[in-house]
Amino acid sequence: MELLSNLTLYHPSSVEDAVSLYSAASNGHYLAGGSDFLVNVRRGIEQPDSLIYLNNIAEMQAIKDAGDTITIGGGVILRDLDNSALIQKHFAAVARAAGEVAGPSHREYGTLGGNLCLDTRCVFYNQSEWWRAANNYCLKSRGEICHVAPGGKKCFAAFSGDVAPALLLFDAEVELAGPNGRRRVALADLYRNDGMDHLTLSKDELLVAVHVAKPSAPMASDYEKSRVRGSIDFPLAGVAMRMALHDGKIADLRVGLTGVSPLPFLAGKLDKFIGRAPDQACLEELRDAIRSQAKAMKTTVTPPHYRRRVAGALALKLAQQLAASNS
Ligand SMILES: Cc1cc2nc3c(=O)[nH]c(=O)nc-3n(C[C@H](O)[C@H](O)[C@H](O)COP(=O)(O)OP(=O)(O)OC[C@H]3O[C@@H](n4cnc5c(N)ncnc54)[C@H](O)[C@@H]3O)c2cc1C
Ligand code: SF4
Repeated sequence: MELLSNLTLYHPSSVEDAVSLYSAASNGHYLAGGSDFLVNVRRGIEQPDSLIYLNNIAEMQAIKDAGDTITIGGGVILRDLDNSALIQKHFAAVARAAGEVAGPSHREYGTLGGNLCLDTRCVFYNQSEWWRAANNYCLKSRGEICHVAPGGKKCFAAFSGDVAPALLLFDAEVELAGPNGRRRVALADLYRNDGMDHLTLSKDELLVAVHVAKPSAPMASDYEKSRVRGSIDFPLAGVAMRMALHDGKIADLRVGLTGVSPLPFLAGKLDKFIGRAPDQACLEELRDAIRSQAKAMKTTVTPPHYRRRVAGALALKLAQQLAASNS
């Protein structure tokens, strides 16, 4: 690990001040819990000269029930998201995913904003400076080739945040603040399929809050992940699912995926399952559909084909559980 260089740490108390401080800094960076970012600084991956600390901004710290919608501040810590009765009631998968991030101590200071804006990960990138230098770096930072797909010019580093796929199930929107004011975009539009540049928000934009409309009818949902160390690890594959049955047939089905591509995404082509009974044959077909869409690359020490199979297996497990809880 590298020593921390000289840094200026700012403590703004409003969103607008945070954005101004960022704009004024020559190489500034937003800092929330720091559970991911500071690791990258110590590895020499990030080299900011100023950090704009976000956790004194009151507006970003609360979970609010606004009737039809719930607003979750970007600075809400994952432990509070996991323990929130409101979130558990309306968006069970979101609470569950928050409770599956890293280990208990990370969830005490890791925030929702940091989780959604997490950098992508790759076994050739999340390494010490000397390790990366010894391998001539890679396309994502300072290098000429991608060690995962050496012939191409694309980075496949995987987005590995747990909470995003669960929020995608519910069409969450994010509120962003920048020098030109505030805007709201669908969470799905916060991401692009490029491991080198996977966030569409500009560098000076701040994620202030997430807004999620409550489903009109109760909706069973859940999240499962596979990881190397069960007590504290990023997902090799993570699957969020929501399902509703009507008269014993699937009436609503969504599946969100993480850890298997540069962006979290909702699986497509699931309409064919609507109207079918969730019997074993149907759910195994769903498993295969998810497996075929989880196009993991060699970005972890665990082989891609295992992560693809595991994504399918997690989907099957979730579908069985949600179908049983619906009936
Ligand atoms: C050992 C270990 C295991 C981990 N396991 C997991 C895991 O299983 N699942 C998982 O999802 N994560 C995991 N993490 C990563 C991290 O702990 C969490 O993702 C956490 O939620 C990050 O939040 P943070 O507030 O600490 O973010 P920070 O580290 O402060 O920030 C992360 C990035 O987001 C940006 N950012 C933060 N807040 C905002 C905002 N409001 N607006 C705009 N940009 C913002 C920062 O500038 C930075 O680029 C792990 C980390 C470690 C060290
Ligand atoms: S996928 Fe390739 S370019 Fe991207 S971080 Fe890994 S080795 Fe680097």
